[in-house]
Amino acid sequence: MLRQFSLLLLAALLISTPKSYATESTTENLPNFESSRADEIADYQLSRQFLRQLRVSTALRYDPLLINYLENLSYRLAFHSAVTMPNLQLILIPDRRINAFAVAGGVIGVNEGLILYAENESELAAVLGHELGHISQHHYARSQENSGKSTMLYLGALLASIAIASVNSDAGLALGMSAQAAMVQDQLAHSRQHEREADRIGMKTLVSAGFNPEAVPNFFSKMEKQARYVGLMPDFLLTHPISQERIADSTLRARQYKEKGRDNSLEYQLIRARLLAIMNQKDGHQVTALRQQLHDNPDNQPARLSLVFALMDKEDFASARTEIAVLLAKYPQRVDYIIASADIDLAENKPALALKTLQEALLLNPDSVSLSLYAARAATLNQQGKLSLIWLEPLSHSRQEDPIVWQALIEAYQQQLDGLGVLRARAEYEFLLGKGEKALKDLDQAIVMAKNNYSLMAKIEQRRADIQEIIALEKK
Ligand SMILES: [Zn+2]
Repeated sequence: MLRQFSLLLLAALLISTPKSYATESTTENLPNFESSRADEIADYQLSRQFLRQLRVSTALRYDPLLINYLENLSYRLAFHSAVTMPNLQLILIPDRRINAFAVAGGVIGVNEGLILYAENESELAAVLGHELGHISQHHYARSQENSGKSTMLYLGALLASIAIASVNSDAGLALGMSAQAAMVQDQLAHSRQHEREADRIGMKTLVSAGFNPEAVPNFFSKMEKQARYVGLMPDFLLTHPISQERIADSTLRARQYKEKGRDNSLEYQLIRARLLAIMNQKDGHQVTALRQQLHDNPDNQPARLSLVFALMDKEDFASARTEIAVLLAKYPQRVDYIIASADIDLAENKPALALKTLQEALLLNPDSVSLSLYAARAATLNQQGKLSLIWLEPLSHSRQEDPIVWQALIEAYQQQLDGLGVLRARAEYEFLLGKGEKALKDLDQAIVMAKNNYSLMAKIEQRRADIQEIIALEKK
């Protein structure tokens, strides 16, 4: 089993200037719902509040490579959609049901089940494109006008549905929320017209981002069959009921595109192999079967990476090293392989070895977030907290809403016996995890400790005021 970054997540930030990824409007014959700047800020704030609350109730999966992959894919799709997404936050939910959601303001959630079930990248992209279609058409806002229910109610229902599904949610919470869960369906169930719109716009986004439109009908029929024969209802179907009509519509529409685009990418296959290992999902990936596949096709990279993880799972680290060495000899700069190699070192409790590999890789690829986070982790495990700050401090600016960065900083400052550093990092971390009051207390203490450094003290006071303002707004 791959050793996991422990999970914790979350965000501070006042409003940074949202970058607009909107391209020309792709709506045809639809009313135009231009967002005002004020709407965008309100969406941003609500989406972040949603995320903090989600982190209170639900343990999220955190893996730097997986998150990085989902970020790249989502930015690519958002760029080709009519959605204005400031600063996307991607979350991976340890839930085996097929589902994904997008919240206006820039939060995208993906269930592990979606990746498990989507055999190629275009199928995953098809679902995300559809969700972005709902956002670009302001479907939630529109339903709200129709029914008089607020966006908060929608987000609350979404939150409840995720918490109930979550492996870590406690039974009491789930029970207490069952009434709300009933409402979820009502809230999320889109009208047929909304589904059609999101399908059409989603397919445009998919094609424009270079994917094969056939992925839409293919994935729909797959889900529909699963629901029929296995009796397992993917979550996506509850909220986005699939009818024969929808499948037929999307089949026809896909045929109209001459350019077929691509179905898959090596990136997706490698990421999927990694996720299956993390989920401890064998998926026919036993050592013998994988060796046979590699005998037939020695350059089957996803199979060899799966073999590395399968061998690690059996604690056969020597063989795992042999296999990752084969991949690295041929593709020395592929981050997936460098990190898998570090995974082996860390599983064997050899952080110094991992650190050396990662530092060398960072010389060639200094901007890689995954490599930086791994290097910082290896350094801290090797009792070199000061070294890990070289990577973590820049990340705390570029990824201010990433709780894993703050969590790593807390550990690094603790090793440095830097009490003020610990308090400031912990405050950010707590705030992102929905513990705003605790964050304020830590900042109070930090202000006292910083009293001999006026400019630092002023900075911390400002941050405290910002967080307090957000908390106060949300209490209203
Ligand atoms: Zn839908």
